[in-house]
Amino acid sequence: MTFDALLVEKINDDEVSASVQTLTDDRLPDGNVTVAIEYTTVNYKDGLCMRPKNGLVRTYPHVPGIDFAGTVESSDDPRYKPGDKVVLTGWRVGETHWGGLAQKARVNADWLVRLPDALSTELAMAVGTAGVAAIHAVIALEDHGLNPGKGEVLVTGAAGGVGSIATAVLGNLGYDVAAVTGRPETSDYLKSLGASRIVAREEIDTVSKRPLESETWAGCVDAVGGEMLARVIGQLKYGGSVAAVGLAGGSSLPTTVIPFLLRGVNLLGIDSVMQPYENRVRAWDRIATDLPLEKLGAMIHRATLADVPELASDILEGKIKGRIVVDVN
Ligand code: NDP
Repeated sequence: MTFDALLVEKINDDEVSASVQTLTDDRLPDGNVTVAIEYTTVNYKDGLCMRPKNGLVRTYPHVPGIDFAGTVESSDDPRYKPGDKVVLTGWRVGETHWGGLAQKARVNADWLVRLPDALSTELAMAVGTAGVAAIHAVIALEDHGLNPGKGEVLVTGAAGGVGSIATAVLGNLGYDVAAVTGRPETSDYLKSLGASRIVAREEIDTVSKRPLESETWAGCVDAVGGEMLARVIGQLKYGGSVAAVGLAGGSSLPTTVIPFLLRGVNLLGIDSVMQPYENRVRAWDRIATDLPLEKLGAMIHRATLADVPELASDILEGKIKGRIVVDVN
């Protein structure tokens, strides 16, 4: 039995190569469920995993792909049987364990979630890890008191994967969404997803000299980090929260404690990788109910395994709009 996979091989300390290769099943890693993958995607982290010295992948050759959706082919775990539709995000699959950029994966049953009936495997990967993180962010904001009556909610990195799904979900839930983008040409796209207005990146991507600015945002889903996150913290309304999801703009946080002490604002950390099973099921259920699935179509950029190396570079350069869906077959 064989399967195709995108194999990343180490050439030397400064170089890796990535190519589609046909492998035999005995090369699959240990695990108690084998999944015939139907769709996967390309996330920002996949872009990193396909670069040398990325700090994430430890052994080569490696199959990247931090998420996938498909059908169970065989299972030694009573929770899953052949034919079940499943999805996987996180658990460092695609980093320390062979991942989803392949026609087959062998994984631990604990890492899988049964796909909700409302979602196809293709739509599940249009959501992918970026979408799951966006939903965890929305849930965290709601758990800290956010509701549509509280005021405008900001989404940063809005035209990217996390931002697109956050914009669509928040818009669908009745929030006034202000979408930050550095690509003005995506304005119509963002408005079609549910943004009420567009904020130009340069208005908000440098730190202010003042630790507190006008109280503007009731909440924020932040995919960018760095100076933009610092700026947003000083613009939150009293008691407002920002869910920190990503670092597309940098990992520093040049802020002060003033907004926390004088406005009682909250900085909520969002991790989708190690979330307990119950939270994952909650997230996928919320995706099925709160994400307008017809809007996913506008976000999808379809690709094959062979397209992935180029797309991986594009995502690191912030060139991808919405979500890439890779049909591995
Ligand atoms: P994308 O590349 O699809 O989107 C990132 C967006 O950020 C870009 O589209 C761009 O939006 C904006 N951006 C890029 N560079 C800059 C910059 N220098 N300054 C300001 N804005 C910038 O990536 P994803 O949406 O998939 O991921 C976003 C972040 O979230 C990544 O850091 C990723 O690692 C992280 N992430 C975290 C997860 C978690 O569990 N915490 C899970 C998934 C992702 P625009 O063009 O609209 O300005």
